[in-house]
Amino acid sequence: MAQRVLGTEDLFGGYMRAWQHMTDVARELFGAYGFDAIETPAIEQVDTFVHGIGESTDVVRKEMFRVFSGSLLPEMLERGTESHLKARQRMAMRPEGTAGVVRAAVEHNFVPQGGAPAKLWYAEAMFRGERPKKGRLRQFHQVGLEWIGASDPAADAECIIVLMEYFKRLGFDPDKLHLVINSMGDAACRPAYREAVRQFILDHADEMCEDCIERAELNPLRAFDCKNDHCREVMEAAPKVSDALCDDCRAHYAQVKRYLDEAGISYTEDPTLVRGLDYYTRTVFEVEVEGAGVGAIGGGGRYDGLMELEGGKPTPGIGFAVGFERIYLALQSLGVDLAGEEPGCVYVACMPDQRQAAFSATLALRQAGLRTEADYQGRSLKAQFKQANRLGARICVVLGSDEVAAGVATVRDMETHDQVQVPLSELAEQVASRL
Ligand code: AMP
Repeated sequence: MAQRVLGTEDLFGGYMRAWQHMTDVARELFGAYGFDAIETPAIEQVDTFVHGIGESTDVVRKEMFRVFSGSLLPEMLERGTESHLKARQRMAMRPEGTAGVVRAAVEHNFVPQGGAPAKLWYAEAMFRGERPKKGRLRQFHQVGLEWIGASDPAADAECIIVLMEYFKRLGFDPDKLHLVINSMGDAACRPAYREAVRQFILDHADEMCEDCIERAELNPLRAFDCKNDHCREVMEAAPKVSDALCDDCRAHYAQVKRYLDEAGISYTEDPTLVRGLDYYTRTVFEVEVEGAGVGAIGGGGRYDGLMELEGGKPTPGIGFAVGFERIYLALQSLGVDLAGEEPGCVYVACMPDQRQAAFSATLALRQAGLRTEADYQGRSLKAQFKQANRLGARICVVLGSDEVAAGVATVRDMETHDQVQVPLSELAEQVASRL
């Protein structure tokens, strides 16, 4: 039997409805905040991710699914290297949404010099070669938004406000959500802080794991996130970014907090929150759900250097992404059903000799916009009623020979079992008025 790839899932039934609901809520809410939908390709040139996310991040070093066309693969395997390939021949499945959206913003000049910000949202599958476990997949789905061209702290605060509102609209109890924020500094103050953390790791090298020692050179701030508990304990004594911020970053962060306070959004500050991708500057944030045990359900931050890294003009930006699968699990653990009810339908049942009339009635109901089902297997009326119940039909239209001869149909309410006869010429209106 053919099987799906490890760490991937099929979306169908209630799970699919849940994903669609998440997308619908995003469209409505983000639309009200002025965001337009965007979809970028699932494959990008590797450089788009390397430049943006950062060469030293786990996502780029270990987790990207690389794509080679069938015609290049044999030669590549034979040579054992891809160094001869052109940049456009080196591709990867997107591990996250921001780099691709920013690449598109640069390519299509979404934010011309002095122009208004570009506000975009997406709902897409992402791909990371992680070890699969509960809430961690290799193909997963994110809803996210990107606000490119806005440097004001109000944009940071509004991004967080819309994120928290999104969770609320999906059914989370705001009291169970735990928002953590931090400022990671910028090009002016982060290099010195990074150096201080590097030095701290080297000074404590005998107490830390191999990975952290490697991180000291590549990406020292990632040591705060080490999976090894002991490393994290050691890092508790490391210099804090809050003590290293330059005046501009400090003022920006203070203003973001004032806006959040005014909006009544509660948060915890965590100076060790560094997020996994290199492009973040200044404000970063993450949201966890109390007691859900699925890790962060969403996070984001400011990325003022990313447009330049992708070859554009210096342009600030901020955004977030939330993971569908983790939100689904978290809501399930809180007893909230994101899938909602199966949509009700109208069922057209007929006697075997009335297939033609059933065909016309089904057509008319569907053209009137009603979700309509019928029998296509020539089953008995009894079997058709059973099927109508299984499908959750709220109304059943019954077409017998006498009814059709008289130009009417029986319309039966499946809950109350009331039934009336209505003229076939008025069928759609009569059914719609009873739904
Ligand atoms: P990140 O881009 O790593 O900040 O991820 C943003 C959100 O996407 C996380 O908070 C998760 O909800 C979700 N996410 C990230 N990686 C995975 C994964 N491998 N499987 C499922 N969801 C994920």
